[in-house]
Amino acid sequence: MPRKTTALPCPASAALPDTIWRQQFRKKLHGWYARHARDLPWRRQSDPYAIWVSEIMLQQTQVATVAPYFARFLAAYPSIAALAAADRQDVLRLWEGLGYYRRARQLHEAAAAVVREHGGQFPRDQQAVRRLPGIGRYTAGAILSIAFDARQPILEANTLRLWCRLLGYRGDPRSAAGQQLLWAAAEIALPRRGCGTFNQALMELGSQICLPREPRCEACPAALLCRARAEQAQAEIPPVQVKPPAEARHEAAVVIRRGRKVLLLECPADGRWAGLWDFPRYRLHSATEAAVPGELAEAVRNETGVVVRLGRRLATFKHSVTRFRITLDCFEAAYLSGPARPSDLRSMQWLEPAQLDRYPLCTTGREISRLV
Ligand code: SF4
Repeated sequence: MPRKTTALPCPASAALPDTIWRQQFRKKLHGWYARHARDLPWRRQSDPYAIWVSEIMLQQTQVATVAPYFARFLAAYPSIAALAAADRQDVLRLWEGLGYYRRARQLHEAAAAVVREHGGQFPRDQQAVRRLPGIGRYTAGAILSIAFDARQPILEANTLRLWCRLLGYRGDPRSAAGQQLLWAAAEIALPRRGCGTFNQALMELGSQICLPREPRCEACPAALLCRARAEQAQAEIPPVQVKPPAEARHEAAVVIRRGRKVLLLECPADGRWAGLWDFPRYRLHSATEAAVPGELAEAVRNETGVVVRLGRRLATFKHSVTRFRITLDCFEAAYLSGPARPSDLRSMQWLEPAQLDRYPLCTTGREISRLV
């Protein structure tokens, strides 16, 4: 069924739930979670550091994807002090493939801040936690409630949708008024004790039952308390955000061979891949296929000072980054002349194929390295 895309004004009925509603909701949620909670690796942890790592990894990433990364990360860096002392490049190499690399950079910076300012102990004070890089209101609430049973609310994509439906809130949940109402609901609903379990149960209900497109109301413990269900308005609540259409983009990466070695560049410090390395990569503007080798050779020379002769196309990759749908052609090129040492502008490295394994690369960069 097509869903409406415009936010409706918030009706007066979308008020905070009363005491009786809250008592019944807690009881039903608690019983349901006791029977249906998934056994996830981070749920066996009480160490705030492990919970912190899991919360950062789970941002915009599926549980199944995170699980092996979580285990490898904790094995490599079992404590905040170990992470703080690690080389950033090694941290990023371990994070490779998980995407959103800013998370890893901020986690690493935050670990150093915890060592410097809190003696390596994760702080219990909400304000101190919020000052750490990469930790917002949701993440602080999740860590503090789960690790310390602090009475802190949470609101993320799944619980935001859940609360909108439970309250029958038809407005825009990301507006100031919507955020105020939903955070207040998340806070007022907290039990006196067991807040970590309560918050995890809310997330579980949102992610497993109150699904975005087809909520499983028949299996929902809160069905009789849910205003959206009573009004048969699940499909309109919350209103769907209209995404801008994906934009097609043509890019090329160049494997420049100089003897046995290939050229890698460090990604710009202000970009999404800061700290990672990559093969020279450019957006293509040529109108014809025939013009591509000349455009690429010029782009390489302008950026690195290296003069190359373009060779054959090795592979083509299709992938998406944010709103871009990218076709990436990968070309081989022979080194002719130019600086063999790092330039002043960007760090350059001539590496043997076997050395590539030590450098953190983006997903397509790693695929290209396998071709090399
Ligand atoms: S009854 Fe349906 S819409 Fe309401 S909270 Fe449960 S799953 Fe979501």
